[in-house]
Amino acid sequence: MAVALVTGGTRGIGKQIALTLAKNGYDIAINYRTENEELKNLKEQIEQENVKCLTVKGDVSIFEDCENFVKETVDNLGSIDVLVNNAGITKDMLIMRMKKEDFEQVIDVNLVGTFNVTKNVIPYMMKARSGNIVNISSVVGISGNAGQTNYSASKAGIIGFTKSLAKEVASRNIRVNAVAPGFIETSMTDSLKDEIKEEIAKNIPLKRMGKPEDVANVVKFLVSEDSSYITGQVINIDGGMLM
Ligand code: NDP
Repeated sequence: MAVALVTGGTRGIGKQIALTLAKNGYDIAINYRTENEELKNLKEQIEQENVKCLTVKGDVSIFEDCENFVKETVDNLGSIDVLVNNAGITKDMLIMRMKKEDFEQVIDVNLVGTFNVTKNVIPYMMKARSGNIVNISSVVGISGNAGQTNYSASKAGIIGFTKSLAKEVASRNIRVNAVAPGFIETSMTDSLKDEIKEEIAKNIPLKRMGKPEDVANVVKFLVSEDSSYITGQVINIDGGMLM
């Protein structure tokens, strides 16, 4: 059975990716930082799909944590065939008010975290001579966004990382792609006022915010054989916001 490791899988987009891949027959390892009731329910939901579900604790910004939870996954599930680097945070602020720590924290989780997990997973994929990595970037990593110098820099960094790694490991039959979601309804965007959400939706060509399923379905495609000739790409999932 193929194994997928999803970071930050306790809620939102990561949770939906874990569920969707489970429905497609993958054994799932969910990395989490904070244990919550949702995680227990998710594990039960995944196991109802007749696949295994392992939950592995660790902060992606801490290299040793990643070393440990990657090893725990391989020890328990046998391999890692798919890695989805999903864990991410925002700390939005105009640069005039942004503290150095606010910048560093976002880079540490989103970009360095992606490196930390990938660095620990890649030796197994190299040995297996196959693998699939999907990194969750963002449209603001391409377009930029006022108030998000830290976040958009981290997400732009993920795009460069994706393309460079795709070139490094293609000869070993390892594909590396990124997705760039627009506004997706999760706890990350919950704090926006309803009027602001309506205003955002008005300016999206498809006239709605996205759902975690919209992202999970593209990730499912990117890790499947249906996309076997695609690597080093960034796919926008944004209702046409950025063309
Ligand atoms: P949520 O805030 O709903 O979920 C984020 C997840 O990441 C949580 O499970 C969180 O766990 C986990 N996480 C955060 N920091 C760490 C860490 N250091 N180590 C391990 N896990 C961590 O966000 P979304 O589901 O909306 O976002 C998922 C990804 O999609 C992110 O990378 C985000 O940047 C990206 N994205 C989201 C968009 C949106 O509109 N929602 C748009 C574009 C991109 P915990 O409970 O411990 O905080």
